[in-house]
Amino acid sequence: MAALMAALTLGLSGCAMTPADPDEAQESIQVIAMDTVMIFSVYGEKSTHAAYAAEDEVRRLEGLLSRTEPDSDVSRLNAAPAGEEVTVSEDTRTLLEAAQLYSKITDGTFDCTLAPVSSAWGFTEDSFRVPSRTELNGLLKNVGWDKFHLSEGQSLAASHDEGVEIDLGGIAKGYVTDAIAKILEENNIPRATISLGGNVLVWGDRPDGTPWRIGIQDPARVDVADGYAGFLNLTNAFAVTSGGYQRYFEEDGKTYHHIIDPATGCPADSGLTSVTVVADWEQGESNGTLCDALSTALFVMGEEKALDFWRTSGSGFELVLVTEDGRVVSTDGLTDCFAPDETSGYAYETVS
Ligand code: AMP
Ligand code: MG
Repeated sequence: MAALMAALTLGLSGCAMTPADPDEAQESIQVIAMDTVMIFSVYGEKSTHAAYAAEDEVRRLEGLLSRTEPDSDVSRLNAAPAGEEVTVSEDTRTLLEAAQLYSKITDGTFDCTLAPVSSAWGFTEDSFRVPSRTELNGLLKNVGWDKFHLSEGQSLAASHDEGVEIDLGGIAKGYVTDAIAKILEENNIPRATISLGGNVLVWGDRPDGTPWRIGIQDPARVDVADGYAGFLNLTNAFAVTSGGYQRYFEEDGKTYHHIIDPATGCPADSGLTSVTVVADWEQGESNGTLCDALSTALFVMGEEKALDFWRTSGSGFELVLVTEDGRVVSTDGLTDCFAPDETSGYAYETVS
């Protein structure tokens, strides 16, 4: 793996140029971390420095938030006996707080205590199986965002009830994109695209002054190159997609994916095949984290509840929903930025 990563990184950094206009300097690196192939393309005088600082930050945060690395904060917390307080880093603590907040506001559809359930389906170790209803019912007794506890005041302690295990996989990459945005800001980067699989940050605009164009994967055509459900034309924004197609297995002709409905312990079966949440980057805000938590939660909710949630939440984010029955539903705040792919066969709807 180390050799592969080195090869990829060197191959791409071979593209770096030193043109006359410092704004046009570009560093493009590929980073494999958090089970994801990431691509950072950064422009400007400090592009090389910022791209590698972003890589360092990803690796630092992965070391804290990973559920599989034994020394991470999350692993230490999970391994601790029930009720024992474990001191975690400020990042981990911030993200645990965010996870609880998003659980609360999404009526528990976002839940970072589904780890034992995900493991039972084999998503942790890639050893896929279909657990029995009895097994799932047993595991669900230890699931619930109110079953882990954050100390009051200045201390950075967290603890959990018996049998509870944390998995920040539904929100961690969003937090990482927020952290990368800070690095881009600190280094006065004029433009960049940061792709962490389904989590994308576009920074500034394209060198020709037009918005960046992000393709939304068509969940029904994952094997087709350039199979898109539509496009987003964005500047300074996060776009995060959750979809069953991103991780799944098949057994006896049925497909089981990785986004679990906390109400059933089973892969969410809400009629949606993907949810994309879009929000502007705003200084000092954590909109990458917001998009990531909400994309997961709204995928579980399904179209009707997701749109109700959007309508009652104000104007902080916009949505593109792809439905099982062949529609692409976008919210009206995206009117100027969402473009259908006319070849996709979907029916397009805008909602307000
Ligand atoms: P995402 O791709 O952001 O939607 O996150 C999916 C990942 O989050 C899964 O691979 C699990 O690690 C975790 N997860 C699954 N279901 C949920 C859920 N309902 N709430 C929070 N995290 C979840
Ligand atoms: Mg998510």
